[in-house]
Formats: sequence, C-alpha cells, structure tokens
Amino acid sequence: MRAIRRFTVRTVLPAELAPLGELVQNLRWSWHPETMDLFADVDPDVWERVGHDPVALLGAVAADRLRELARDRRFLRRLADAADDLREYMTAPRWYQTLPSGPAAIGYFSPEYGIAAALPQYSGGLGILAGDHLKAASDLGVPILGVGLLYRHGYFSQSLSPEGWQQEHYPSLDPGGLPLSLLKEEDGTPSRIRIGLPGGRTLHAQIWVAQVGRIPLLLLDSDVADNDAAARDVTDRLYGGGGDHRLMQELLLGIGGVRALRAYCRITGHAEPEVFHTNEGHAGFLGLERIRELTEARLSFDEALEAVRAGTVFTTHTPVPAGIDRFPAEMIGRQFGGDNAWPTVDVDRILELGAEPEAADGDGEKAVFNMAVMGMRLAQRVNGVSVLHGEVSREMFQGLWPGFDLSEVPIGSITNGVHAPTWVGREVMELAGKELPTLVDRTQGWDSVQKLSEGDIWTIRGQLRARLVEDARKRLRRSWRERGASEAELGWTDEALDPGVLTIGFARRVPSYKRLTLMLSDPDRLRDLLLDPAKPVQILIAGKAHPADEGGKKLIQQIVKFADMEDVRHRIVFLPDYDMALGQLLVQGCDVWMNNPLRPLEACGTSGMKAALNGGLNLSIRDGWWDEWYDGTNGWAIPTADGVTDPDRRDELEAAALYDLIEREVADRFYDRAADGLPRRWLEMVKHTLSSLGPKVLAGRMLRDYVIELYAPAADSARTLSADHYHGAKSFAAWKLRVSQAWPGIRVEHVETSGIGDTPELGATMEITATIALGDLSPEDIHVQSGYGRVGPHDELLDPTYVTLTPGHPGDDGRAPFTGTIPLDRTGAFGYSVRVVPHHPLMASPAELGLITVPEEPAGMTNGTLR
Ligand SMILES: *Cc1c(COP(=O)(O)O)cnc(C)c1O
Repeated sequence: MRAIRRFTVRTVLPAELAPLGELVQNLRWSWHPETMDLFADVDPDVWERVGHDPVALLGAVAADRLRELARDRRFLRRLADAADDLREYMTAPRWYQTLPSGPAAIGYFSPEYGIAAALPQYSGGLGILAGDHLKAASDLGVPILGVGLLYRHGYFSQSLSPEGWQQEHYPSLDPGGLPLSLLKEEDGTPSRIRIGLPGGRTLHAQIWVAQVGRIPLLLLDSDVADNDAAARDVTDRLYGGGGDHRLMQELLLGIGGVRALRAYCRITGHAEPEVFHTNEGHAGFLGLERIRELTEARLSFDEALEAVRAGTVFTTHTPVPAGIDRFPAEMIGRQFGGDNAWPTVDVDRILELGAEPEAADGDGEKAVFNMAVMGMRLAQRVNGVSVLHGEVSREMFQGLWPGFDLSEVPIGSITNGVHAPTWVGREVMELAGKELPTLVDRTQGWDSVQKLSEGDIWTIRGQLRARLVEDARKRLRRSWRERGASEAELGWTDEALDPGVLTIGFARRVPSYKRLTLMLSDPDRLRDLLLDPAKPVQILIAGKAHPADEGGKKLIQQIVKFADMEDVRHRIVFLPDYDMALGQLLVQGCDVWMNNPLRPLEACGTSGMKAALNGGLNLSIRDGWWDEWYDGTNGWAIPTADGVTDPDRRDELEAAALYDLIEREVADRFYDRAADGLPRRWLEMVKHTLSSLGPKVLAGRMLRDYVIELYAPAADSARTLSADHYHGAKSFAAWKLRVSQAWPGIRVEHVETSGIGDTPELGATMEITATIALGDLSPEDIHVQSGYGRVGPHDELLDPTYVTLTPGHPGDDGRAPFTGTIPLDRTGAFGYSVRVVPHHPLMASPAELGLITVPEEPAGMTNGTLR
C-alpha cells in the first residue's frame, strides 16, 4: 500500500545539542566544510547514507547516539565553536557595509534556485546562478531577499532504461524534511497570500523561508487546504505542464512574491526592498503588482510605471527564442480583465507592456504576450550575462528601440560568476588558504598563484581525479544495475576509467544548441582518441533532457549506445542524474572541461568557470564567457565555423577541429612529463588559468558589479522618484507624456560646418551648427548630438562618437541653433551627422523613450578623405 501523504517527524534534540538545530536550518553549512565535518561526525555512516543531507541525518540518527554526543565534551566544544562562527558570520559588517548608501534591501526573484543538492529546486544554469547569487550576496553582506517557488516534486531525477532512454522520477518532497520554516503571523497562524483568478476563484499560498547564510529565501507553496485541486497543483513541479499551469506559476512568483515579501517585512521588521531584480522573464509580473500597489495609493498608471521602472533591474538569460516565455495575449487579458480586473489598472495597459514590437506596427496582430519584452519595459536597467550575450540581446530586442544604433540599445551586460566555496574542491581551497591566505574569494592578489608549488598542485589534481573515478565507478555500477544488468556481469566497472588518464568532462542540460553528440561526429576518430596506447583520454558525460524534449532524449541515447560498447566502455561513460553533487565532483576532478555550443547561443555558461577555479583547463567554442576571457594561453578555443550555413557541414568542421585539438595539443601537453614526473607545460597553463581567470569568474566579482552598476543607481533613481509623495515620478511621467506628444514637431532644419578647407587634415577641428525646429518643446527637453567617425561604403557611420551640441537662443520662429566642435581625429573616410533625442536627468539611456529625429536628407554630406 502506498502512503497517501508523507511527512517528517523531527528528532527532539537533547538541550546540549540545540545549536545543531540552528546549524542545520541555515544552508550556510553547504559551503562551510567545518560544519559539514561536524555533521559527518554525528554519525559517519548515516551521513553517507542520507547523501549529506543534514535534516535527514537528524531524522535518521539513533537516539542513543544523540545522548552519547550530548555528553561528549570535545564534540560539544566543536559544536559551540561552529555555532559561534555562524553567529559571527550572520552579523559582522562585510564589504557592503562599507558602501555609502546602497539600497536598504533588494528583492531578487527567480523561478529556480540551486542552493544544495539536498534542496532540488533547480533544473540548470539559471537556478545554479541564482543560488550562487544569494550565497555571494550573503558573503558580501548584500541585503538581498530571495523569492521563488517551492516545488513539491522539484525537478526530476534521471535514470536510464536498458535501451539508454531517459527515465524521469519525481521525488515527493516534504517541506518538513527540508531546511525550511513556515512564515507565521504574530498569532502563530501561517501567513498566507492570495491572488484572484478569473471566475471568482482564488489562488492561496503559504510561504516557506530558507535561510541561505544571511539571505532569507521565501518560497511560495500552493499546496494548502484552501485551494481547489488545480490551484494546489500550481507548485507541483518545476517547468512541468502547459501554458495555463505555467502562467499560474508565474503569477504566483511575481505577484504572490511581492505580497510574500511585504508580509515577511511586516512580520520580521526587515527593511522593504528599494530595488527589485527580475531574474529572467518568468518573474516579470512583480512589476505589475508594484504598479497596482502604487495606483491604489492614487498614482496614475504612467506615474506608477515610472516609479516601478526606476527601481527595477531585469536580467535576460537566453539568446534562444524558444527559451523566451510567451503567452497568448487573450490568456493574459482574461487574467487581468473582466471579472478579475484590478480596479485601478486598465488591462489594455498591461497588454501593451507585453506586446511584441513587430506586432505593434505590423498588421495589428497582438496575439502574443512576451514576458521578456514586458520585463524590459518594466525595468529601467536591463542586462545580459556576458559581453557577447549583451551584444546578441541588443540585436534580438533592437525592435523595441527603433531608430537607434545597435550599440545604443539600452541592454548592458554583467558576466556571470560562480561561488567558489560551493564549487571548489576542499583540497584546493585549503592549499590556497594555507599558501595564499588572502586569496580565497578576493578579486586581487591572484598573481601569487605563481608561487604555488607545481608538485602540490599536481598532487591535488591527482587526488581530485582519483575521487571522481572512484565515485564514477559506483555510479556506473548503480546505473547498469538499474538498467537490468546482474552483479556478475559488472566486474568490469571496477576497472572502468583510470585515475592516471587525461580526463575530459562534458556535463550540461541537453537542449540541441549544446550539441551533446558533436563528439560522436566521427566515431572512429573518437575511438582512436580514447584508445590511444600512449596518450589515451577518458570522457565523463552527464546531463538531463527536458521531459518534453524527445530530441534531447535521442541524443542521450546515442551517447549511451556508444558508451555501452565493450571496447570503449572503460574510457567513456554517461553518468545519470546530473545534479549539484555530481557537478561538484566533475568540475573538481576533470582535467579538461569541454563545451561545444552552437555559437552564439550559450548566454554565458558557468560550469567551465567552476572547472577553472579547480585548476581544470577549458576546451571550448568561443561563446558566452569564454569568448570574453580566453586569452590564447589559459585553455583552448575550438574554432567555430560561424559563417557556414549548412548545419551538418558546420558540425563536421567544428568536430574535426575538436579532435585535432585534443590529439595534437591537449593530450600532448598532458602526457609531456619532466624527469620528476610532472607535466610542466600543463601545470604552467593551470597556473596561468588560475591567476588570469580566478579573480574574474568569482560570484563575488559579479555581485559587486551588480551592486555598483545596477542596484545602487536603481536605488538612487527610485529614491528620487518616490521622494515627496512621488513628486519625481509624477513630473517625470508628465514630462514623458508631453515630450512624446510634441515630438513630431521636432525637425532638423539644416546643418552647417566651417573650419575645414578643401583639404581637411588630421588634427584640425570643424565647427558644426544644427538648426532645430523645436515645435512645442524647449531646448532643455532635448539633446542635439553630432555623431562622427568612420563611414562605410553606403555612407553609414561605423561606431560613431557622439558629441552633444550647445543650445543657443531660440528665435521667434521656434528654431534654435545648436553648436559644437568635431575633432578630425582619424585619417581616411570620415563623416558626421546630427540627431535629436529627448533629454531628462532621470533617463538612464538616450534610447529610453524610443524617440529620435535625424535629418530628412542624410546630413553627413561632406564625407571627405583626411590626409
Ligand atoms: C554549473 C551547473 C550548470 C550550469 O552550467 P552550464 O555551463 O551553464 O551548462 C547546470 N547544472 C549544474 C548541476 C551545474 O552545477
């Protein structure tokens, strides 16, 4: 008989062990080895059996053992030390506390979080990044409040059928068995949020709090008795179900999330967020909820929109169109209109926010509501997650800012990072901590890596590789058992893989652009690499396909079928159930981290950063972060056949280049040993990788960038707009409206230049005067700018520099002259033009209003050639 409901009965700890309860409840243990040691010593066997899950440990350990520990003076002393250390960690001033005026709090919204394997609420990079973001914020003292959903079945765990087909299992998670506590009102009843649904239905949710170091993470859970069956299932699983289910999840995350934050701050006295960070479009409804709050406080929609935008940061994470959330507009109309409309917010205004730009000026079709587009309209500050991804995003969303050059589309970038204490092997941390005590999680001083002994590094690399091989053998055996093999057939798994062989890792989700099977393009060539008698390589592969992605499952099956073959199965293995625990083993133990996405579809990628911090070397297509930080000697770049349009041909070319690199460069270097057995040229590269990439790939660097470039300016804008009963928001909204209405009156009447003769020469300057018809606007409302620089074959300015011209007095005819100086600062074809854009001190970019006027006849008339 199956249980209809499961719950966890918690152990009552003896009073002496009470601090153990505190340590278990704070997820900081997951990146604090000393605390994990303490847990292990509670009962080493149970600790292993429960897969390093401390809540499960306390549930499983025998009462006798707890009584024994309660009398163990040494254990109690260590426990007291660990508890003190945690209290100190929670309260001591950190980097953020040295800043003059950062936001009092930041609300960070994400649909998934990868904090620890014991809390399986993530599917891949987006969630892992969100987890690392919170942990780094905790380490730096950044006052973030995380918001997400608690999925009762989390993401699936993966195994294989005998045929190598992915099998999905959904664990049933009981919040009582997780390190969570229920948010309660002062009277002790669970705090609840409600969201109205069409047809008079209501979606209720309770709020769990996970403590991630200093950061509270609020997780909304719709599995409560007040809900009807459908509403209860809203938080059943991560990325399961279709459009309607997905919409319910996103309403809960965005709207419910803001309500949960308000409840949390009210109950605990925590500061209210001044900045809201939308991690990908899924959380975008948070902006609507804040508009609703402000319209109920008597602001107009436009005023509320300005106030909300000023304090919102939106991060886009995917250059893959299929990765962007889109709903039928009619579905959104039903949610926010009719009997379920918010009295102060017009549903048409909401629909406008998610309308795609093509639809707006095309045939009037507005059938689609795009969450990323709404995210960008609701946030004054938008970023991608690597320099290249920033570029690709500007192209992808250029339609939202017509008339502006690509370089001016207001989407910047902050390159992702990884949380070192989570991902770096303990031995590496200890070596760094011992030899270079200032290094760990600092962005300076990494040159001192050069002082580390090569022998020490090689010894540690060997230990990490050996641990991976040992664990991989166990996983391999378990997987074969699940696929129906008998023990007697599995003797070979004890010898599978080799702790002395060059080890390549490839682990990631399996969408098609990541090209899991590129390495299989030429199976004979691959076989030769694996079985090379002098310089063999072994490959460890892991990854989950989305449950609905049949194509991805086929790719996994192809890899598994190849790895099943008797002649190679000791050199290439597929390890099922890629999660954080397996990820940690792989990035620590592999010598080479391979990545071959279809450029430029990898927004950033972070697993290679984890490998680099452990002294692994990257072998990757120049995509995402690797495009930015590959320097020619800190790993290898697989040449990309970017321009080749035939996809099969492109794969073939890139695969051939990959095989060549492995054979001629990678294996060669790894097996080139000095008399003392050390691969000197390899270790040189490892040291260079650590010292060049170490400081850049840290999540601490990423957090500092977010705080300084986005959170602090957003808080400043939000404060300016909200001060004095939102006076700033009201006047900014009124100004935008006035300028937008009057804009058709703006015209560039003519442009004159002087100062250069017939033969312009380098170093000369040119005076420029543009006469602008102002219509109903005044010179202060606009910036007239001259763009100048190199010109291309069709007179287009290439990467122009802009200089803002100085306004003169407007005449009675409503025209004003604007003057400035252009330096002729380069030889060759040179051109200039003029444009008019709105100007207001509260704008974050000239493109913000999407308004621009250029001369009707191209004014870059005198495209001279400089000598
Ligand atoms: C780091 C990590 C990811 C993201 O890695 P990518 O390089 O972006 O593919 C995904 N899943 C797990 C388990 C990870 O540890």
